[in-house]
Amino acid sequence: MERYPAWIEIDESQLRKNLRAIRNRIGKRLFCLPVKGDAYGHGAGAIARVAGEEGVDLLGVATLQEAEELKKEGVKIPIFLFGAIHEGQIDALLASGIEFTISSQYKAELVAKRVCPGSSKCRVHVEVDTGMQRTGVRPESLPSLIDRLEQLGCFEQVGIYSHLASSDVPEDASTLRQIECFYNLLEKLRGWKGIAHLANSGGVLHYPDSWFDMVRPGLLSYGYCPNENDRLPGEISPFLSLRAHISYFKVVEPGEGIGYGHEYTTQERSRIITIPVGYGDGYRRALWDNQAEVLIRGQRFPIAGRICMDQFMVNLKNSEAYVGEEVTLIGRQGEGEIPLWEIARKSNTNPYEVLCGLGKRLPRIFRYIPVPLERHPKSMCI
Ligand SMILES: *Cc1c(COP(=O)(O)O)cnc(C)c1O
Repeated sequence: MERYPAWIEIDESQLRKNLRAIRNRIGKRLFCLPVKGDAYGHGAGAIARVAGEEGVDLLGVATLQEAEELKKEGVKIPIFLFGAIHEGQIDALLASGIEFTISSQYKAELVAKRVCPGSSKCRVHVEVDTGMQRTGVRPESLPSLIDRLEQLGCFEQVGIYSHLASSDVPEDASTLRQIECFYNLLEKLRGWKGIAHLANSGGVLHYPDSWFDMVRPGLLSYGYCPNENDRLPGEISPFLSLRAHISYFKVVEPGEGIGYGHEYTTQERSRIITIPVGYGDGYRRALWDNQAEVLIRGQRFPIAGRICMDQFMVNLKNSEAYVGEEVTLIGRQGEGEIPLWEIARKSNTNPYEVLCGLGKRLPRIFRYIPVPLERHPKSMCI
């Protein structure tokens, strides 16, 4: 039996398949794997280790702290900090040696003031806003920013990038405009020697023209499409499951209220079990309102009553299950599957938010199931 009451299971062999599938799709281009948000809830340290073994070129983070944690864990792949940098962290940022974003001349000047004379140049990616209206200079200000960075003398400009706002929709007009705008900018910068990158998951899925020299697919690498109506390319699948052991069993008479507020009332004599997972683990309260289900022995059973912080109840009706048996809340079990997209929809959100909300207290257990006829390193559990 798994030693934890509830846990997140990561199928490392499927992770490797996903990374290889994306690598095949993009050919010689560079592959930046976003591992922000604790690798979309999967556990950034262990994901980074596998990414290194699979030849990922760059790891994307959202905060300096995320980069520092990866470094502490001994990650060797270069790290790139997305988005606008924070003034209060410039010294620490420079000390970390990671690649970061210059998204305005203002930030560039702040950095330049703090670079110690004689130290090596900072590797930066210049961000241009082609339509997201989040961070990045306006297209018309890009050439002068690049010149200014050159003048300041302490920057090595390794990349120019931008971010797509609606690439989860195929043939979207605003996305096509963003790609064209980016392309035109690069045309104008004839002497540019660095790389250019634009594609997120939607870009990799639907817009080959957005691939340029490097891609940054997050959600797709973790095995999900950013749009529920999309179909995943063949070899890519999810590899995260949320599982628990049944912690309690009881028989409840008809007409009894279950859980906080007694919102659920038994219609008949019912077998009720308790699952040791709650909204404290990221299993949202809306899942009760929207009638989510769990898998036991591959069959679906409905939630009974409000989700508590650490537990919730399930009605087994006339079926059997024992205390200690395995329950699947997200993922496959036997013939059954509860897709993350279903949980996201019933949580009134998207897969990104569900994954990022998965609680720190759930251990991430990496399992490696060897794939025949493939070279593979030893399995490892964390
Ligand atoms: C989060 C992020 C990505 C990855 O987005 P997905 O939709 O998960 O592929 C790529 N680029 C930047 C700048 C990001 O912030």
